[in-house]
Amino acid sequence: MTDAIRNIVILTGAGISAESGIDTFRGAGGLWENHRVEDVATPEAFARDPSLVLRFYDQRRAAIQEKLPNAAHVALARLEAEWTGSLLIVTQNVDDLHERAGAGRVLHMHGEHLSAWCTSCDIRSRWRAPLLGRPPCPACGARSLRPDIVWFGEMPYRMGEIYAALREADLFVSIGTSGAVYPAAGFVRDARELGKRTLELNLEPSQGSFLFHESRLGPASELVPAWVGEMLGG
Ligand code: NAD
Repeated sequence: MTDAIRNIVILTGAGISAESGIDTFRGAGGLWENHRVEDVATPEAFARDPSLVLRFYDQRRAAIQEKLPNAAHVALARLEAEWTGSLLIVTQNVDDLHERAGAGRVLHMHGEHLSAWCTSCDIRSRWRAPLLGRPPCPACGARSLRPDIVWFGEMPYRMGEIYAALREADLFVSIGTSGAVYPAAGFVRDARELGKRTLELNLEPSQGSFLFHESRLGPASELVPAWVGEMLGG
């Protein structure tokens, strides 16, 4: 696997944070923390009932601050530190567990719980407190902050950078993602069309599992450290 591999792009999803105690998305019933996606994770939901949406994200933001990175996050941070080629972690996750495990180059394509976006001045501010009381934007003072989360129907962040990294990559690895949410779910097909090697690490086969050269099934806290060990030569 390591032969002729220099540049790696790793896509992570909710499954890598599951063993840290953060619920995945498509669990039983397709609910997310007991809510229908349409009620909390769309711009229409925010327009219809901002208090419900802000309360939902305030709870999620508070909850992730209580969680800790697990062995999978730690292993990826180690790989980033010791890998001599380039390595980019693209995450669909809105928690900060990659960063708290020590990873430095993490691209949050679906936004971040610990960021608030002012829709008046378009400035993003680091944010840990609730948004429900509509606090003023630190930059312009407008009470127009919203969660800096890419909702369904909105454009994911930094797609140009992601595709540029995919073009340069020798290996694309997908960890803990169901392959249900596009455009991230399409990265494996893009990587294959570009002639890249592809590997999936997931608890169960994802929707696009058949597209990967190799698929390893099991918990991320076991699969990821083992794979990182292989990449770093034991
Ligand atoms: P998903 O919930 O749709 O799929 C999770 C995948 O992880 C499943 O395929 C499941 O089999 C796998 N999985 C579960 N436990 C695992 C484990 N211990 N080890 C390895 N794999 C495991 O997640 P997704 O594909 O990331 O898409 C969901 C969307 O929801 C994303 O857009 C994301 O922004 C958001 N989300 C984020 C978080 C977070 O930030 N931690 C949590 C929930 C949802």
